[in-house]
Amino acid sequence: MDWKGRPLTVLKFGGSSVADPQRMKEVSCRIRGIREEGFRVAVVVSAMGSTTDRLLALARDVSYYGSGREIDQLLATGEQQSVALLALALQQEGVPSRSFTALQAGFKAKGFPTEGRLFRVEAQAVEDASLEGVVPVVTGFQAITESGDVITLGRGGSDLSAVALAGALKAQSCQILKDVTGIMSGDPKVVRSPRKLKELSYEECMELSVQGAKVLQARSVELAARYEVPLYVASSFVEEEGTWVVSNPVSEGLVIKAVVHDAKVAKVALLGVPDIPGVAARLFSDLAEKGVGAEMIIQNGMRGGVNDIGFLVKKENLDQAIETCRAMNREMGAQGVSFDTEIARVSVVGAGIANHPEMPAQMFQVLAEEGVNIDMIASTSLALTCVVAATRAEDAVRALHDHFIEEAAF
Ligand code: ASP
Ligand code: MG
Repeated sequence: MDWKGRPLTVLKFGGSSVADPQRMKEVSCRIRGIREEGFRVAVVVSAMGSTTDRLLALARDVSYYGSGREIDQLLATGEQQSVALLALALQQEGVPSRSFTALQAGFKAKGFPTEGRLFRVEAQAVEDASLEGVVPVVTGFQAITESGDVITLGRGGSDLSAVALAGALKAQSCQILKDVTGIMSGDPKVVRSPRKLKELSYEECMELSVQGAKVLQARSVELAARYEVPLYVASSFVEEEGTWVVSNPVSEGLVIKAVVHDAKVAKVALLGVPDIPGVAARLFSDLAEKGVGAEMIIQNGMRGGVNDIGFLVKKENLDQAIETCRAMNREMGAQGVSFDTEIARVSVVGAGIANHPEMPAQMFQVLAEEGVNIDMIASTSLALTCVVAATRAEDAVRALHDHFIEEAAF
């Protein structure tokens, strides 16, 4: 058979799609079906079910501090189990298959343990297998460092592995097959009538992921945009039209495509720091050095001679962020450090926001009518974001979804 002439698609199956032997079997049939449609396929898989969480809990049971290198070594075993098992299941279905670890598949990364950053994928062996008609099944979420250690790519990192493989092999598309049927306009557990989005731009999808939608790892969308890999998000359980993420989607008419929230963030503020050059540069380089990302950075410079600098961090980085701010506070003779963990951010996302000056007013009006107090506000051409009390976040999402999506006529 001429495998060379066939378009290549990379299929990624998440943890719940390969959670048990029955699911592995169903996924194998799905892969066989896609192959029979005329595609050459390469597969990337996550660890089975909640294996990664279970391994992390085990690590915590034996060690409070945990060295990153050993955590990576441990977590990588989850994906190694699932690739071998899925390759066996495929062979059982009569589909020739071979599993690959990150080392065998040529995934190279640098960076902090558990936060590896891919810099190269040398996937010749994977490509060769697919050209022989063998389905390569590659571990997601892991890569090899320059010193030969295994490193993981951040939670949800299998999406990134799949996109990177698709980019390296110049695949026609990358299909992320999950336990949801596509990208929705709002969390079905929160909003009244979520809509499935047919198409989204990379930018919109990236914004959604960054602002808290759990559907795709944000870094994977960034990479897809860079390589222009068309992404397709659909269910691995049912055959139903999913969502395409592409460069130039056909407009669906609504300005706001989705409403999302994220309660996994905390707010930190350095108060009354002298208004002189270099303060922000210093604070955020100290944070970056520790691998702590800051978002929604707001400096309030309207009280003569001193500034307040507030920002959001992931809750798991809060201790490090406070420590960094306290050190700056002492050194600069600032007026203190405050933090708040009982907050969430709520965002409305859509590429048309910049062309619709009425959007911010509408968002604030909806929140006012709902009696939700706004703590911080940030706006970009892709999203309007408000920080609100964590206890009111879902009410805010529901009201915004009602207004911007369910009631928006088009
Ligand atoms: N197994 C890893 C995790 O749970 C990677 C992934 O699922 O994408 O984060
Ligand atoms: Mg997962």
